Amino acid sequence: MSQDARAARSATPYWWEAAPPAALPQTPVPAKVDVVVVGAGFAGLSAALVLARAGRSVAVFDAMRPGEGASSRNGGITSGNIRPSFAAISKRFGEKVALGIEAEGKTAREFLRAFIADEGLECDYQPVGNFKGALGYDQYDTMARAAETLSKRLGIEAYAVPHAEQTGYIGTDFYRGGTVRKDIGGLHPGKFHAEMLRVALAAGVDVHGETRVSGISRDGTGFRVATARGEIAARQVLVCTNGYTDRATPYLQRRLIPVRSRIIATDDLPADVMDRLMPRRMMMGENRQLGFYYRPSPDGRKILLGGRDASRRGDPLEPTLRLRAGLAQLFPELENVTLSHSWFGNVAMNRDMLPRLFEHDGIRYASGFCGSGVVWAPWVGSRAAHRLLGAEAGHSAFASRAPAAVPLYRGDPWFVPAIIKGYALQDHLAFRRARR
Ligand SMILES: Cc1cc2nc3c(=O)[nH]c(=O)nc-3n(C[C@H](O)[C@H](O)[C@H](O)COP(=O)(O)OP(=O)(O)OC[C@H]3O[C@@H](n4cnc5c(N)ncnc54)[C@H](O)[C@@H]3O)c2cc1C
Repeated sequence: MSQDARAARSATPYWWEAAPPAALPQTPVPAKVDVVVVGAGFAGLSAALVLARAGRSVAVFDAMRPGEGASSRNGGITSGNIRPSFAAISKRFGEKVALGIEAEGKTAREFLRAFIADEGLECDYQPVGNFKGALGYDQYDTMARAAETLSKRLGIEAYAVPHAEQTGYIGTDFYRGGTVRKDIGGLHPGKFHAEMLRVALAAGVDVHGETRVSGISRDGTGFRVATARGEIAARQVLVCTNGYTDRATPYLQRRLIPVRSRIIATDDLPADVMDRLMPRRMMMGENRQLGFYYRPSPDGRKILLGGRDASRRGDPLEPTLRLRAGLAQLFPELENVTLSHSWFGNVAMNRDMLPRLFEHDGIRYASGFCGSGVVWAPWVGSRAAHRLLGAEAGHSAFASRAPAAVPLYRGDPWFVPAIIKGYALQDHLAFRRARR
């Protein structure tokens, strides 16, 4: 561990204190199943559960312990948004498409809420709302208009908070007002994943952790799937590997760029500080290319703040310091706060930043959540399963062609740090313009 007082004491996710990923017993790999699912994160488990309950035999394989990918490392913010803004999607595809995606987000958030309630999942789900800060008054006006459209057209409880009323939501003067979405909240991702795994196992899903899939080949009308612990035949295959996609699925690998996202957690803060900085204990975010996302821990004692991490190897100190600086810019009184945790995980970016559900050469894929998969991954995973079952319920705005391949890319994202630096420069210039 680093001796630097500004570093965090632990490099493992804060969530793993209460819910470490489980090492499952290594049971024999069956000779044959109806469906093989690759990846045991939110998407893979959600799909497997639907399939098992529909009477299919399902084997799920994960190269790591189930959940050890992004699903137990994320911020737990149940956003169900997509990266391009409502205004950007409307401009590019028209307002009808933009509203269609927002409507699916609304359905997907409701699906998540009902899933947690109906299955009795203990995961600290808190539908507390989300505040998004505006960097300048022009941005505030655009965001306020988008909130009004969502409220009027889709009945989403969304409203603008002017600068003068901001401290009722967040104890900072950094923003120039913001918007609130009452339909967004938070959960404990480690507990949520552990609970999904419990329910999937109880439904008869055969989950094989620490068993990498190394290749998938056609075999008559079905497939042969090679794994680290033997081969298995399957009628259908669903790939849910998102930011951890590797050369076992080269078609997907060429279409998704893994990018690190990192979160820091403060040590416990006094209750009066939390009351001042996060009076409503809402989830928080902002409108920049490399915007921070942040939230109180479920017990309301810590602040967790996340953002992009431009490093590619090891666990360097620099990205932790960058997040620290972001935290101090928002909350100057936290400049010397001590950090309990700093960890990272991979998100998966595709070229148009829209999640995808598609088929290629008979293999189905559900991936590309672009850093927003707590709502989308369980939802898109379940839609993928319904499509495998041939059911109407598989309809989704994200069911379409595969995302475009990234030219010349074969799985080594050496260019990501340069792209992140470019975005940081754009953010810097946009911020200066916004504050002129
Ligand atoms: C730090 C961080 C913060 C985030 N914060 C938020 C947030 O606040 N809100 C939000 O909505 N989203 C957030 N996200 C995104 C969200 O976590 C992901 O979109 C979501 O977890 C993706 O789920 P998944 O099942 O598709 O993939 P994952 O959970 O990443 O699972 C993919 C699995 O595939 C396995 N795998 C890969 N290749 C193979 C192979 N060949 N054989 C077998 N297994 C394989 C991996 O081991 C991995 O476990 C965050 C992500 C990160 C990393």
